Amino acid sequence: MAKAANILNAVLRCLDFIPALATAWGNFAARKDSLTFLIALPRVSLMLELVLFPDERLHKISSSVENINGEIKELVDQMMEIMHQGGGIGLAGVQVGRMESLFVVHVLEEAPLVFINPEITSCSDNLVPYEEGCLSIPGVYAEVMRPDAIELRAWNQQGEEFTMETRGVLARVIQHEYDHLRGVLFYEHLKRGMKKRLLATYEKSRNQ
Ligand SMILES: [Zn+2]
Repeated sequence: MAKAANILNAVLRCLDFIPALATAWGNFAARKDSLTFLIALPRVSLMLELVLFPDERLHKISSSVENINGEIKELVDQMMEIMHQGGGIGLAGVQVGRMESLFVVHVLEEAPLVFINPEITSCSDNLVPYEEGCLSIPGVYAEVMRPDAIELRAWNQQGEEFTMETRGVLARVIQHEYDHLRGVLFYEHLKRGMKKRLLATYEKSRNQ
């Protein structure tokens, strides 16, 4: 029971990333500027790379998806696979070098979710702390304050519009991924000293 609780805590305390897998993945990923995943699929073979900080693309603003076609569906399928392979629970298009406004999320026992052209329409005034990490900045974590609850609208992989009200971990992951679409990384929410320390730790791990 205690073991199960520890595992749950380990999963809950992180964001893009599951800490139990972070060390092995981080040690590997931090040595490279980008990683390339080639996934053989019957319809379209997309070549996606996991974009790592300090790649400039991570600061760019993503563009609306005009048409949720077969390529977009394939893209989100492959992003879901890369997110799972990396031990993550959220992944935005820009993190695999694609500038379409979309991200995928898979939190604990919830079903995997796809958000295309998402728009957060409302945020609670209540801000809460939570430790975040990011697949694009492997190996570093920090507590970030964000609204506890949000409302949003988006389109799913089938091209259907939906709205959602959510709070807690799911709301947290969605806000983190939504930031990616606006070129914002989680460390940018930190106070100056914290930000500096986090980036110095990341830089050090990359050079080891
Ligand atoms: Zn991230």
